[in-house]
Amino acid sequence: MSRAYNFCAGPAALPEPVLQQAREEMLDWCGTGMSVMEMSHRSDEFVQIAETAEQDFRDLAGISDDYAVLFMQGGASSQFATIPLNLLPEGGSADYVNTGIWSKKAIAEAQRYGQVNVVASAEDSGFTDIPEPSAWRTSPDAAYLHYTPNETIGGLEFDFVPDSGTVPLVADMSSTILSRPVDFSRFGLVYAGAQKNIGPSGLVVVAIRKDLLGKARGLTPTMMNYQVIAENGSMYNTPATYSWYLAGLVFKWLKAQGGVEAMAEVNRRKADKLYGFIDANDFYANPIAPRFRSWMNVPFTLADDALNAEFLKGADARGLLNLKGHRSVGGMRASIYNAMPEAGVDALIDYMSEFAKERG
Ligand SMILES: *Cc1c(COP(=O)(O)O)cnc(C)c1O
Repeated sequence: MSRAYNFCAGPAALPEPVLQQAREEMLDWCGTGMSVMEMSHRSDEFVQIAETAEQDFRDLAGISDDYAVLFMQGGASSQFATIPLNLLPEGGSADYVNTGIWSKKAIAEAQRYGQVNVVASAEDSGFTDIPEPSAWRTSPDAAYLHYTPNETIGGLEFDFVPDSGTVPLVADMSSTILSRPVDFSRFGLVYAGAQKNIGPSGLVVVAIRKDLLGKARGLTPTMMNYQVIAENGSMYNTPATYSWYLAGLVFKWLKAQGGVEAMAEVNRRKADKLYGFIDANDFYANPIAPRFRSWMNVPFTLADDALNAEFLKGADARGLLNLKGHRSVGGMRASIYNAMPEAGVDALIDYMSEFAKERG
């Protein structure tokens, strides 16, 4: 068996040692004679798995006891509704920054529940640049300020945390969480669909400042009420036990790599190499303002779109998988999350270089 380099945006590659450990433990977790998948979520064994995963996540991210950490279901997209239902009071308003497709989805969903003010938009730049915060039309009365630190599809990433004053800052960190150090004390709520940097799809990890609990509207579905989920240790119903376990293995792996500081170094190096190659080669292009180029998702185009299919076919043949760009933007996209080793980026650059020489 040989493992390919999988550049998929999500579900994305997982660290190979994590998959190997999961395989070893598949039939018999720690001498229990059971797979984790078969365990009661109320059992001592699973509660230990769950609590360890939460603690490791807190350690890695630097999340204090002022926050509840929730392991919820329905992916990041379910949070687009869960957030306004919990934090946007009837008659209130929320501020949103529009930097691309995921921001837009969050905005569209929140608009179903109340007044949404789009306080800044990257649309004028074709989603290649982030407007100066001094020009954002934020309101001190907003229930919260929502933004998307990394736009997974466009490859546009903030290199700063916006200052929201006393307004709670809410961030969709799905494709950037644990990729670099972040001061989590600046946020009221962060959420991340697991399938980019944490584990299997379906799971969504939420960290919410405890003073923001208990504000859900009356009609909020119980399963979407942060306070209920927090009070029940994310076990109001049966949680996504196996995904939670696998996320725990990823957290242990991240700790063994040296944590987010060490990951940030590797991630910066991987991104610098790939953008550096793209910039130095006339055959490839990336349109994003250099300062805001994503470390995790690198979209690029070929000089001639007619060569896209051939490029992808050649990449597949070398075990460089899922490089096709999102249907909405075309071209290519290399997602290089924590689990993508530097050697995978090197292999991609070698192939891109050869392809440009032959066909450019
Ligand atoms: C992938 C992604 C989502 C959607 O995640 P689901 O788990 O499929 O709902 C939302 N926001 C961002 C930034 C993403 O990258």
